[in-house]
Amino acid sequence: MADIDCVVLGAGVVGLAVARELALSGREVLVVEAAEAIGTGTSSRNSEVIHAGIYYAPGSLKAQLCVSGKEMLYAYCAERGIPHKRLGKLIVAATPEQSAKLQHIAEQASLNGVNDLYRISGAEARELEPALVCDAALVSPSTGIVDSHALMLALQGDAENQGAQCVFHTEFSAGRILDSGEFHLEFKGDEPMELTANCVINSTGLSAPMTARKLRGQPEGLIPTAYFCKGNYFTLAGRSPFGRLIYPMPNDAGLGVHLTLDMGGQAKFGPDTEWVDHEDYTLDARRADTFYEAVRSYWPALPDGALNPGYTGIRPKIVGPGSPAADFIIAGPSSHGIPQLVNLFGLESPALTACLAIAQKVKASLQSPA
Ligand SMILES: Cc1cc2nc3c(=O)[nH]c(=O)nc-3n(C[C@H](O)[C@H](O)[C@H](O)COP(=O)(O)OP(=O)(O)OC[C@H]3O[C@@H](n4cnc5c(N)ncnc54)[C@H](O)[C@@H]3O)c2cc1C
Repeated sequence: MADIDCVVLGAGVVGLAVARELALSGREVLVVEAAEAIGTGTSSRNSEVIHAGIYYAPGSLKAQLCVSGKEMLYAYCAERGIPHKRLGKLIVAATPEQSAKLQHIAEQASLNGVNDLYRISGAEARELEPALVCDAALVSPSTGIVDSHALMLALQGDAENQGAQCVFHTEFSAGRILDSGEFHLEFKGDEPMELTANCVINSTGLSAPMTARKLRGQPEGLIPTAYFCKGNYFTLAGRSPFGRLIYPMPNDAGLGVHLTLDMGGQAKFGPDTEWVDHEDYTLDARRADTFYEAVRSYWPALPDGALNPGYTGIRPKIVGPGSPAADFIIAGPSSHGIPQLVNLFGLESPALTACLAIAQKVKASLQSPA
């Protein structure tokens, strides 16, 4: 008999949501985290936006899990008193040429089940947000923001109330799949340990491909290469002139330098895209020049000197520069044939929004042990 039923590797927002889901279904769960606390990785280095589900390819996991996860997240936040705001967002077109593309965005959103977008003129946009200059805009009423740390604390609390345990300073270092189908796992850290488990969920974010390679006995060919794409943020000194999130038109490189707000009303701009080859969270203040230029395309009155270096986060990519964004990979038994193993690869945005839906998908993908 295994020492423990389920081991969830990684205590980011996804690992905690999965731990909660498995614990609520009556399974015994141990969450093992290399860092000193929950959510010190990508889960605390993002925009904290509850995405509507507008841009993702119709039928993709990103589209499906964002749209269903958004509703689940709003309901969970309301039920658990997690700070959040359904602020709404404006997608702004700077020129008539860009305005012509708004219809395409609305149609794509509709294919994803996001049917509440509506178009407004530049003058109507200015009535809503007087500092804004644009030709036309799409309003997305269901976009919002959430306090991601409060969300993670609630998920951890729910999991622990169902008997789950979390251990920190403990890094998964090696493992193998035994003939019995159980997993033998080794950990280093304050208290190195070894144990056997019936089920493993690899929710180690940026490290997920490396973690999978350390767990021997699964098909190596199914493990993607990890790429890191940093996003830099600059914060706005002083009060935000905007009450909604403001996004320029998306381009090949991503969603453009947009404005988001945190729960305290502080405005920040970003993230941009900077490919890096290791986990490096430094921010080069000289990148501010490109931010001023990008932001002034929709807020010409942005004062000189108003942007301060904020923070950075790193997107856990599974395709490199120049490739179209990949879908989430929830690699369970149907892909690798191992009944009680799920690897989570490429869980970049909108995985914060989708965390509860991803957790349900992970639970559903597990097969009972033979
Ligand atoms: C710049 C940026 C902006 C974003 N904005 C948004 C947004 O607005 N809305 C949205 O929905 N999503 C957004 N996202 C995406 C979202 O933040 C992530 O998808 C989500 O936080 C991923 O959570 P996770 O639990 O998979 O990973 P993580 O939070 O990275 O957690 C993984 C954990 O695994 C641990 N770990 C790693 N290796 C090991 C090991 N060997 N043993 C044990 N533990 C290990 C790490 O320490 C870490 O705590 C953004 C992402 C970025 C980078």
